[in-house]
Amino acid sequence: MDIKNNIQKLQTELESKGCILVAVSKTHPPELILEAYTSGHKVFGENKVQELVSKYEALPKDIEWHLIGHLQRNKVKYIAPFVTLIHAIDSVKLLEEVNKQGAKINRVIHCLLQVHIAQEETKFGFDPAEVLKIIRTGGIGSMPYVKIKGLMAMATLTDKTDIIASEFKSVQELITTLRKEKLPTNVEMKELSIGMSSDYKIALDYGSTMVRVGTAIFGERKYD
Ligand SMILES: *Cc1c(COP(=O)(O)O)cnc(C)c1O
Repeated sequence: MDIKNNIQKLQTELESKGCILVAVSKTHPPELILEAYTSGHKVFGENKVQELVSKYEALPKDIEWHLIGHLQRNKVKYIAPFVTLIHAIDSVKLLEEVNKQGAKINRVIHCLLQVHIAQEETKFGFDPAEVLKIIRTGGIGSMPYVKIKGLMAMATLTDKTDIIASEFKSVQELITTLRKEKLPTNVEMKELSIGMSSDYKIALDYGSTMVRVGTAIFGERKYD
């Protein structure tokens, strides 16, 4: 894979749409991340806490690390000191734990709420109605060490682009609704993290501000 070239091509495609690239480096060794880094890319996503921490320790400190995968409450403490953005907040209890760990180290931690839009039942996340309820009445305003930057979602894994499009449309409608509301001071609905290698082009049509792309940059993963 020509990592540098893949990133540059993606950047050009995303830039005109005001969308940023999170290069998903999970399962790939630090050397490959360094290859992307030395070509100028600084934003990487990992889906496992342990792997994220060990790569953070091994690699340059100006990398912005995003945790894109499911997060267990007992692991928040390991990433709280350095994580740039947690994409997959899927419960209020998890948010409370992030707030608690942020308070301990006096650091405001940026998060996205994960919205369940896919047909598959296994996918994590809040239903759209729950997101509205949590933001309107969930007490986020009294969690000063979290800042909600927006929403994240994953579409169904399918070749049917109409299904993917309708799922992305539903989360775009949700964020559009929220953007019109008076939000708690630590909630801003700027970011919409949708789109992976197979569906980022569709996501761009539905207001993505952040795509999480792995395979299209680094090639196929050997394990997941
Ligand atoms: C692995 C992963 C991605 C990237 O997937 P690709 O198909 O390799 O682009 C995006 N988002 C999440 C949450 C992931 O776990």
